[in-house]
Amino acid sequence: MKRMFVLGLLLVIGALSIAAAAQQTKQVIDVQKVADNYYVLTSSTPGNDATFSGGNVGVFITNNGVILVDTKLAAWGQTFLDRVKSVTTKPVTMIINTHTHGDHTGNDDKFGTSVEIVAQENTKANMAKMDAFKGDKAAFLPKKTFKDTLTLGSGKEQINLYYFGAGHTNGDAMVYFPSLRVLQTGDLFARKDAPRIDPANGGSGVAYPQTLSKAVATLKNVDVVVPGHSPLMKWSDLQEYQRFTADLLNEVQTARRAGKNADAAAASINLTGKYKGYTSEGLKLAVQAIYGELDASRTR
Ligand SMILES: [Zn+2]
Repeated sequence: MKRMFVLGLLLVIGALSIAAAAQQTKQVIDVQKVADNYYVLTSSTPGNDATFSGGNVGVFITNNGVILVDTKLAAWGQTFLDRVKSVTTKPVTMIINTHTHGDHTGNDDKFGTSVEIVAQENTKANMAKMDAFKGDKAAFLPKKTFKDTLTLGSGKEQINLYYFGAGHTNGDAMVYFPSLRVLQTGDLFARKDAPRIDPANGGSGVAYPQTLSKAVATLKNVDVVVPGHSPLMKWSDLQEYQRFTADLLNEVQTARRAGKNADAAAASINLTGKYKGYTSEGLKLAVQAIYGELDASRTR
């Protein structure tokens, strides 16, 4: 009798946890249709391990197969694969990685070795340093790389890749779909907050505003901006973000010249009045990274 009860209880708990898991996976990766042949598999807030699935993913459906831009965190592989399958029955034939981080490259190895993986050349070098791409997994390092620009496909299936300089890392690609007027920015523009700068992978808070300025001056005919992590935005949001990073750098340089240390500088800088809808969660780390760069370079 007692055994039956325990068994029954286990079944109930099992059913509840399956329901909870289904609930949770729905929250972490939603499917957003942008065009008949282009979907975004959405991101969620980094810092919350329970719901963070990795960055926004672009799913571009061509005649011959599916092109993914980024592949989220490895831990969410099955949910991610299910979401891709929910919008198309075609096989994945190409993966474009916007940069090296594991929340954008985590499932590069889930679609077989015949998939063509494409990234900026510095990103390939950064990926080669990751445990996730060592040993047998080196088969999933990008085989096609580019330095400044690369055009893939043609006509309605054309994709333009751009590298504008160091920022979040030293290999951030922006991915533009001319037929859709959609731009995926990767984490060069992740969200409306201070940028995350990764010096270990060549990121630069000093170069950041120039890099975005080059992007804003070069790119044209963009209606939809798909940031690295936040919900979809507009071209004017990217232009504003360029100004934000320039103002941030200016404020840091001013505070440093006034003799403040990095933490005092971070405490004194507040750009959220001027930039509506912005948060300051990444401010302190960004200021510390910029200080590190300025301290290392006495010529600046
Ligand atoms: Zn990143």
